[in-house]
Amino acid sequence: MKDLTTDSAVIITIGNELLSGKTVDTNAAFIARRLAEIGIKTRRTITVGDEKREIQWGVREACSAAKIIVCTGGLGPTRDDISKHAVAEYFGKPLRVDRDQLRIVEQKFRSLGYKEMPKSNISQAEVPEGAVVFSNSKGTAPGLLIIDKGTYFFMLPGVPVEMKALMKEDVIPYLKKRLDSGETVLSRTIRTTGIGESKLAELLDPALSTLKDPEVAFLPDLFGVDVRLTTKVKSKSKLSPKIEKIEKEILKLASEYVFGFDDDTLESVIGSLLIKHNLTISIAESCTGGLVGNRITDSPGSSAYFERGVITYSNNSKVELLGVDPDVIENKGAVSEETAIQMAEGIKIRSRCEMGLSITGIAGPSGATTTKPVGLVYIAISDGFGTSVKKLQLRGDRERIKKQAAQAALNLIRIRLNDKNLYRN
Ligand code: AMP
Ligand code: MG
Repeated sequence: MKDLTTDSAVIITIGNELLSGKTVDTNAAFIARRLAEIGIKTRRTITVGDEKREIQWGVREACSAAKIIVCTGGLGPTRDDISKHAVAEYFGKPLRVDRDQLRIVEQKFRSLGYKEMPKSNISQAEVPEGAVVFSNSKGTAPGLLIIDKGTYFFMLPGVPVEMKALMKEDVIPYLKKRLDSGETVLSRTIRTTGIGESKLAELLDPALSTLKDPEVAFLPDLFGVDVRLTTKVKSKSKLSPKIEKIEKEILKLASEYVFGFDDDTLESVIGSLLIKHNLTISIAESCTGGLVGNRITDSPGSSAYFERGVITYSNNSKVELLGVDPDVIENKGAVSEETAIQMAEGIKIRSRCEMGLSITGIAGPSGATTTKPVGLVYIAISDGFGTSVKKLQLRGDRERIKKQAAQAALNLIRIRLNDKNLYRN
């Protein structure tokens, strides 16, 4: 490190809404992750309300624990936003209007169609004397850096998109430059779905059991398990042979569950596969209520392959919009293999797509029968090679079942398109 004497940080999140539970503090988690990527460990996160005394207490605590402090919240133009004043006062730096910043803020208002900027926004151009100003590409309040006796105190707006942009464009590059120890942290995330954490750990044990470097972390969530490999490399290198070697071994052991790496999402991976095979898809959803369509359209450019999605929730809509045989629903049930198949084939034919996907299930808590428990879900996929159906028995509450069913449905598309017997990869 050049001029920082520690590689740890404290995060302060400021806002009454964080204390009351109205807003979940996602900023701290995001900042901690980004700092960890460049080798800075977060020692503490402190959350305080929009009160001068509380904020200054947090700043004092933070400064006693680390040389790098990142704080968010309370930089807005309204009266409850007092972070800048409280912090500036703590460091004994008076606020001064920054001319460049004033011009930027005024320009932003003009581009939004305002003739004049509201007076209260002048305060957004005020910065503590001597502070480094990072202009905010997503909003009006700039990011600030106060350097005081070897302490690097960053202040960012609370709005997550603004905070994220400033972290990425300014804070991380700034710290990276300062933290020149000749080494940097490289990490690779291998993203899996369709297998639980302990099963995956068992499967990967031959590759990981005696491994020290890279460090391995299993990061499970509702949708799957990320396996993150981390190691230190020389500053300039972008690759690590150690990570590459383990990655290859992991792929050998668990390839069917690996859908992507790092920032890949299941929907982006499916999008690439559909484009590669020049296919369009339509979906018919019942119990997921549009979640699958929502996720597919989260990928920019999805109009190239996504034709339509229908939510056929009632029996009648399955008959009317998809051509499902009413006798099949009557005899086998709306949640059945047969109905799922007819839904997938129906949406494929009616939308004139190469691929049709369907989901029907019981999200609960009601709706179960003696033979059909809550969490029973059928997903079917139909394409030029035929139709296949998968039965799932999911657990958890309604939200969890819906989300997991959507994930499994998306994964079914991936598995189908990766089937070497059907599609040339
Ligand atoms: P502020 O910069 O304090 O005016 O915050 C603006 C908005 O950003 C708040 O109303 C919250 O919705 C959101 N926000 C502030 N702090 C956080 C945080 N730590 N995590 C997630 N959202 C936040
Ligand atoms: Mg606030």
